[in-house]
Amino acid sequence: MSSSNPTTDPASIVIAVDGTSGSGKSSTSRGVADRLGMRYLDTGAMYRAMTWWMLSNDVDVHDAEAVAAAAGKPVITSGTDPLGPTIALDGGDVSVEIRSDRVNGAVSPVATVPEVRTRLVALQQQEIRDALAAGSGIVVEGRDIGTAVWPDADLKLYVTADPAARAARRAAEEGGTDAEAVRASLENRDKIDSTKGGAAVPEGATHLDTTPYTLEEVIQLVVELVETTAYGTSGKAGE
Ligand code: C5P
Repeated sequence: MSSSNPTTDPASIVIAVDGTSGSGKSSTSRGVADRLGMRYLDTGAMYRAMTWWMLSNDVDVHDAEAVAAAAGKPVITSGTDPLGPTIALDGGDVSVEIRSDRVNGAVSPVATVPEVRTRLVALQQQEIRDALAAGSGIVVEGRDIGTAVWPDADLKLYVTADPAARAARRAAEEGGTDAEAVRASLENRDKIDSTKGGAAVPEGATHLDTTPYTLEEVIQLVVELVETTAYGTSGKAGE
């Protein structure tokens, strides 16, 4: 459409959304991608799929050497439609399995293994290049997108919410009612995640605390932010 002016074309931009679990970053990222006609990549789902592979193949997730040795084996494929994102492992859909308690409890140690990160970051970068090459922008959600995966993103967000709001949202998402247990699990994962590399607030990121807002309000805020900042400033991703 606007190949003469890539800075105003959502086809040419990358939006990096980092933040904590349950902060609303997934729903926000999907909603923004849908509103702006962009693809959506859930990198957490990729770490979860890698973890499910380890659990299914009897790899001890606390044995970093064993995890490292197996990190190249799983074939992980992400579908990037924001209205129906998919995740497949060795060709089979694992979207339900990756949300299980077993995976919730094992994903952080798996994600700390450097061989896992190197492999998944490379896959994520390829997914972004593919989207841009196909003329589509992409919203990429995770913990290290603005720092390690795509530091040149046109817009970087760091999304948080207060712990009680996060636990309530995640408990609702997971269909459970025990917000306290969910809160403990989230806090445990955050603790492990924050002590490993890559989970820092990206330089230049806009901090978005979603606690007081509804999902629709947050999506609207981000769309406005994209319109006022990303379209006007870069050309980075389009050049
Ligand atoms: O976002 P989600 O809660 O699904 O992510 C699951 C886990 O995957 C996180 O707790 C973190 O350990 C890991 N992760 C990561 N880097 C990313 C995305 C997720 O280490 N970019």
